[in-house]
Amino acid sequence: MDGIWESFLNIVRQESGSRIVDTWFKALVLHRWDALERIVYLKAPNQFVCTWIQRNYMSMIYSHMGRLLNVELSKIVILDGQSLTELPASTEQQIQPARAYQSPTLSLKRPIRTQVNQHYSFADFVVGPNNSLAYAAAHAVTEKPGSLYNPLFIYGGSGLGKTHLLHAIGNEIKNLHKNTSILYQTTDRFVNEFISAIRFNRVHKFQEKYRHVDVLLIDDIQFISNKDQTQEAFFHIFNVLYEARKQIVFSGDVYPQNIKGIADRLRSRLASGMVADIVMPPLETKVAIIKKKAETQGVAIEDIVAHTIANYTVASIRELEGFLVRVIAYASLMQQPITQELIYKVLGVPSTMPQSIHEVSLETVVQCMQKYHSYTLADLRSDKRVKELVTVRHMAMFLMKRITKKSLRDIATFLGGRNHATVVHAIDRVEQNMQLDPTFKQHVMSLEYEIRNH
Ligand code: ADP
Ligand code: MG
Repeated sequence: MDGIWESFLNIVRQESGSRIVDTWFKALVLHRWDALERIVYLKAPNQFVCTWIQRNYMSMIYSHMGRLLNVELSKIVILDGQSLTELPASTEQQIQPARAYQSPTLSLKRPIRTQVNQHYSFADFVVGPNNSLAYAAAHAVTEKPGSLYNPLFIYGGSGLGKTHLLHAIGNEIKNLHKNTSILYQTTDRFVNEFISAIRFNRVHKFQEKYRHVDVLLIDDIQFISNKDQTQEAFFHIFNVLYEARKQIVFSGDVYPQNIKGIADRLRSRLASGMVADIVMPPLETKVAIIKKKAETQGVAIEDIVAHTIANYTVASIRELEGFLVRVIAYASLMQQPITQELIYKVLGVPSTMPQSIHEVSLETVVQCMQKYHSYTLADLRSDKRVKELVTVRHMAMFLMKRITKKSLRDIATFLGGRNHATVVHAIDRVEQNMQLDPTFKQHVMSLEYEIRNH
């Protein structure tokens, strides 16, 4: 069943862009398929995602899942954790328009379309230590296309900004050098175009088209692996352009030498110019990206909010952006300000330990906690066992361990020369209480947040 859901995600990705998948569909799990009744059961993390899917994407699910399962579905059931939402097959829902940068097949009668997406610019690209080399190289290429870094190869994991940079290069060159002919092409499309050129005897036309571009931007070159004939054709195009000193830029998900299933001579061409990588950004850069993305959507968000979102564990900027979109959508739908609580409601309480920007001392933990109770450091260090004081002491130990870099022993000593096993016990107690009591958990979480950002 996992395979079917994966295929579904791929279809949606191709048809409507990966944004929808990362923002909404990835939050869903294919829970069960009742073949007898022809019912698909999906699970959503919360009511909000559930409602959003119902409003916007039901017919998409009906048609694609139906096709993949090879039946006409009678019903789709979305479980949202608490309640059940059943939807009869007749529910007519509107599909969101696909994000439009999948353009029609190219034809030589018209001047070729650049396929460059104007939405991606250098101005919108946040530079951090994770991508500064790639950014600098991309920028340099736009000043003197074809002469500086050629080819330029940008590599990095999925969703880290490669496509963004390729389009930014295209847009910038368009601005700076008016008569340059630019072509952005995904490798997938390149492969398909080549296959259909063979089928319809148009290989010559196909090659002509590519030979006449000044700047060729090829995205996700790893998808050319094991396509021997396409590689052959591409190799020749590459050589022609390269010898004519035309600029070529590639992106790929691994270092060129590590792409599997490609001919050595092509591999060495890919790595023959400048190679720059992009990795996952550090916290500060994530915060800056979130703020920039919110800004482009016309939403101003506070640092503390951007910081909360940035602290969620994600594997890519795309995923982070998905989180932001979900938060913004929820806030505008509910007409509520974007607060930390709202973020927790939409995205769930983060499971992993957030990172701190700066180091926090044991004293700071105690000071910050004093806003909420009247116990002094001397009380915490004492042997008094008043119930409330004991809870506060436990919380202090728990937070100290989570937030500071001190050892259990340091914490035990700081809090009145106790045994480090006491701290272990306290942490256990707090964790248990957090599981039993959501209000307590919320209180501890926001305390933690406050201390980290004091
Ligand atoms: P890739 O091609 O590497 O899979 P994309 O270029 O599609 O990744 O980036 C995914 C999303 O993350 C895009 O919306 C892009 O605008 C955004 N993004 C990635 N890096 C940055 C950055 N440094 N500044 C702003 N947005 C970024
Ligand atoms: Mg990409």
